[in-house]
Amino acid sequence: MARGDNVSALLEIKNVSRVFQAGDETIMALAGVSLSIASGELVAIVGASGSGKSTLMNILGCLDQPSSGDYRVGGRSVAGLTPDNLAALRREHFGFIFQRYHLLGTLNAADNVAMPAVYAGLDAASRRERSTSLLRRLGLGDRLDHRPNQLSGGQQQRVSIARALMNGGRIILADEPTGALDSKSGETVLDILKELHADGHTIIIVTHDMEVAGHADRIIEIRDGVILSDRRTRDQKTDAQALTFHDGRPVGALSAFRHRLAEALPMAIRSMAAHRVRTFLTMLGIIIGIAAVVAVVGIGEGTRQKVLAEISELGASTLAILPGSHWGDERSSSITTLVVSDADALAAQTYVDSVTPEVQTSAKIRFGRISVAADVIGVGQDYFRVNGLKRLKGSFFSAETISERRQEAVIDDRTAATLFPGGESPLGKIFMIGRVPIVTIGVSARPSSSSGGRSLQVYLPFTGMTGRLLGAGTSLAALTVRVADSVDTTVAERAVVGLMTRRHGTKDFFVFNSDQVRKTIERISQKMSLLISSVAVISLVVGGIGVMNIMLVSVTERTREIGLRMAVGARRIDIMLQFLIEAVTICIAGSILGVALALGIATVLGGPGSKFPMIITANAIVAACLVALWIGLTFGFLPARNASRLDPVDALSRE
Ligand code: ADP
Ligand code: MG
Repeated sequence: MARGDNVSALLEIKNVSRVFQAGDETIMALAGVSLSIASGELVAIVGASGSGKSTLMNILGCLDQPSSGDYRVGGRSVAGLTPDNLAALRREHFGFIFQRYHLLGTLNAADNVAMPAVYAGLDAASRRERSTSLLRRLGLGDRLDHRPNQLSGGQQQRVSIARALMNGGRIILADEPTGALDSKSGETVLDILKELHADGHTIIIVTHDMEVAGHADRIIEIRDGVILSDRRTRDQKTDAQALTFHDGRPVGALSAFRHRLAEALPMAIRSMAAHRVRTFLTMLGIIIGIAAVVAVVGIGEGTRQKVLAEISELGASTLAILPGSHWGDERSSSITTLVVSDADALAAQTYVDSVTPEVQTSAKIRFGRISVAADVIGVGQDYFRVNGLKRLKGSFFSAETISERRQEAVIDDRTAATLFPGGESPLGKIFMIGRVPIVTIGVSARPSSSSGGRSLQVYLPFTGMTGRLLGAGTSLAALTVRVADSVDTTVAERAVVGLMTRRHGTKDFFVFNSDQVRKTIERISQKMSLLISSVAVISLVVGGIGVMNIMLVSVTERTREIGLRMAVGARRIDIMLQFLIEAVTICIAGSILGVALALGIATVLGGPGSKFPMIITANAIVAACLVALWIGLTFGFLPARNASRLDPVDALSRE
């Protein structure tokens, strides 16, 4: 085996300087340092505080890069490497031990140790297995599930040594590893490092303590950024193992990425759980925004469907022709020009499917000893369908009933109950209207109260009515025209108005177009949705800004955690994904709670027959979640990018 200085050195620094700019001042932390470290050495770098030890250590560990000079790891220059290339070097070859341990407070010992392997793409089971065995080896087999704050300083430092070994840690860099420990724990840590050295790890210890340095085979003394002395205290044992580089895409890069992604969600949930109140308050903006939007859209949809259902009871494409100039016109009762011959004229038009005239009078009706006043309404065959009246018993009028002027009646259920109080079936029973005997053939549901539901309703064929009860030429209460299917109702309406105006010599009627009303409502509801959507967008943007704000705070608070993750080899994309997934998780959770809140409001407010019918469709829920996803990605991006662009050395030193 060749001697250390004959093989190419493991780490080789040539004339390296590192300059910091602090305000106007330029600080020369390292001034032309050259040194080479062979594989398997145990080196101590000593010097007073501020002499440049940590700066040298950070350059050796690829956490930082020289301002000038050359640094080679395993014979390869690090100059010009991207942050992710450097992260890969750290991940594959280095393990770091810090004076203050830098354990993550939200993770237990085993998870802290396992963390670097997440970025190496190891699956969860293998990670747990390896971290457990490392902790056992370091005498912490009974502390696997303890949090850092449940461990002593010495125990924490042993956890951090285990973490340094997690990805292999061929080269271990320990910056003041015993600085925060009592002498006994310090001894233990040094013993472990010496054991690792004996196992073939290359160990570099930075210390200001000569006693600690005394454990090393080689002591490099540094002062004011310059090497003072470099001496070997005992014969070194080196092995000339070359480093193996994993260039390009490692096998199974996709599955490794999946492992890293799968780890991001639990990480996000743990960090959310660590700040429950804050997370909830952040979510509140999203919860309220989504709940408001879903509820208001639900009410809009409910109202729209309710109104449309009421309109469709009027029947498809009908034109009602009524006397007077508008609904409730006081003169309408004195207008007598709307007559049955108008109906006949209309029925002859090609654009008309059918015509139902409507005449109305009140009359005494009699059955046995019961005698009551009722509204007697002469109708056509389509009347019941056009007005959305339900058939309860028997049948409605057939075409023959109308054309043959049969003396048959359909009565509403209240009339049935009044004339036949014993509960016997009214069907086939004969009652009297004045002197005319009428056979009951059907019972209908009562019309809604708005159209005369308070009185008793008896329906007769209008043909019989005009002849027998009222006399020919009686004026009509209304004429309902069913427009032929192929004809546009607006065109038909214009034609009807023209024809009727010509017949009457003046426009003494008005037309109620159900299709027009339907279109108007759809137009209004479209405008409403547009208005609601813009309010929704505003409220959600406000919620999103809240999320962004808290994520920025969170990145600032967790700068050291980010630094540590980068030190153990996290790529920029890993850090970015972690924070993006956190933002998205907050937003999605908020939107789920918001939808739940809206559904709660819907059940309280929107029971059947309520004034505020609320219809929350699956589409609305899916849309809410997609919007939340979009908010998370949009407003999480800036904080996540900020996090991913942190400098590891800077981040680690942040308090
Ligand atoms: P040591 O670890 O030996 O105590 P450092 O390597 O931390 O010393 O620091 C060496 C010199 O470089 C000190 O004067 C320190 O103030 C300066 N220094 C280190 N890091 C920075 C930095 N990021 N910005 C400005 N000055 C720095
Ligand atoms: Mg230092």
